[in-house]
Parts: sequence; C-alpha cells; structure tokens
Amino acid sequence: MAILSFTELLEKCSRDNKTIYEIAQDEEAFLSGDSVDVIRLRVMEDLLAMKDAVKNGLSSKEKSISGWCGDDCVKLTAKFSEKPALFGKVFEKITTYALATAEENLRMGRIVACPTAGSCGIVPSVIIAVSEERKISESEQISGLLTAGLIGLIISNKVQLAGAVAGCQAECGVASAMASGALVQMLGGTCNEIINAAALSLKNILGLTCDPVCGLVEVPCIKRNAFLAIHAVTGAELALCGVESKIPIDEIVDTLKITGQLMSPLLKETSLGGLAKTKTALELEKKLHLAHKPI
Ligand code: SF4
Repeated sequence: MAILSFTELLEKCSRDNKTIYEIAQDEEAFLSGDSVDVIRLRVMEDLLAMKDAVKNGLSSKEKSISGWCGDDCVKLTAKFSEKPALFGKVFEKITTYALATAEENLRMGRIVACPTAGSCGIVPSVIIAVSEERKISESEQISGLLTAGLIGLIISNKVQLAGAVAGCQAECGVASAMASGALVQMLGGTCNEIINAAALSLKNILGLTCDPVCGLVEVPCIKRNAFLAIHAVTGAELALCGVESKIPIDEIVDTLKITGQLMSPLLKETSLGGLAKTKTALELEKKLHLAHKPI
C-alpha cells in the first residue's frame, strides 16, 4: 500500500482530481494486476455477504453457546414494528442490522470482518440501512465500501487493529470511523468531509477498552456494534454540516496508538479487568463453567 497517511491521501485526491474510492480501487488494481471492474466485483461480493449476514441474523433467534445473547435484534424488530423509534426508520434499521450481524458472528455464521469479527456489524449496518432508506444504488454502496476499506487500511498501517493490542478503540472505534467515511461518500460529500467524518468518529471513541466477559465476543461486543454504528452517523452528519476536527486525523491515529500502549494489559482482551471483573460477570463465568463442566 503506497499511501501511508491521510495527509498523503488528501494530497493525492487533490493532485489527481480523484475521490477516495477511485484511489482505493486504482491501488487495488495496481497491486493485484486486475482491472478496476474486477476489483469492484470483488467488493460487491463482500457487500452481498454483508447483506446475507444481516438477512440471516434477522431471521434467527438462536442463542450463543453461553445462552446470553442472540435474540436482541428480534426484540428490536418486534418493538419497532409496534412503536417507531424516536430517531426514525434509519435509526431502527442501523441498530437492528448491527445487532443482526454481530449476532450472526456469535453463532459462527458467515460475516465480513470489517475491520474485525467483533466489530463486524458497524460498517454493513450503516451502508445497508442508509442505502435502503435513501435509495442509494449498489454501485454507490460499493464506492462507500471501498472508501471505508481505504480508511481502515491507512489506520492499520500505524496501529494493529486488535483489541489485544490497542483495546476496542482499534476495533469498534476504527469500524465507526470507516462507516462514517463510507456514509459521507454515499451522501455525496467531498474527500475532506469524508476524512473529517472519520476523524470526528475516531477522536470521540479514543480510550475504549476491550473487556469481554469470560473472553467471549458477546458482552459488551454485540450491543457495542449498534452504539458505534450510530456514533458513525453522528460523525458523518457533523462533517457534512461543515464541522471540522481541530486535531488532524493522522494525529488522532497516533494518539490511538499511544493510548493503546498506555492502556493496562488488564483492559486489552485478557478479561482480567473492566466489565469482565464485575460481580455479575464473575457470577456469569461461574455459571458458564458449571454448565460446561466435563462429565
Ligand atoms: S470489546 Fe474487545 S473483543 Fe469485544 S469487540 Fe471490542 S475489541 Fe473486540
């Protein structure tokens, strides 16, 4: 990957008079030796897999092995059909689709890691829900996904995207930044607005720890996908209104990395601190071990 920072990316957008997704597909075509059309077809396959994960998640109530999670998106669907959400249809769909995808992941269903499996519901829920409600074409959705991919890739040049390395800011936080950028692209924003949306979303999630109860990607991971999908929309809306991050995104990414280094190992996927060590989490852990004790 030749582009190592967002400053370089914006310079390239301006110099070549190209959008972020055009640069992403050109780079992929160059590296793979395939045509841009083939690259876009591959991204379309990812998009279809994301849509399948949402569809499968929406139609299942199957609980996880722990029995703690698996039916929340069904609860949302039932409730919203009776009483619409305060923030309207887009909110209903984004939160429901985020849970549907994350629940598919806990059932070991097929999902697209974007950037990770634990954060798999954020980018798809925003792209799919907004596209349905705003009648955004498949081609524009592919461009949105390419934009999200390049944002994630540039961040991953500096920070390993894993809760074990830098906490959940590097998983769900980065997913939220990617979704923000995708959304601005799909809504017709400029390159600056796309990067600004990603900056606003990432900046406002710095420090998020990774403390999964019993080491399972369930609590708090699943519901966190719904929260950070909505967080992504806030970043996009603000950027589209001309609100700018005072701290440039490259400095935010550096800060994410340093914050991850400063974070206690107890809060980086070890389940030795945070929510994983609450009284209730310890009780859940005990019950889980009793239920799965070898006979
Ligand atoms: S809390 Fe940890 S395991 Fe769960 S999604 Fe975030 S980074 Fe992944």
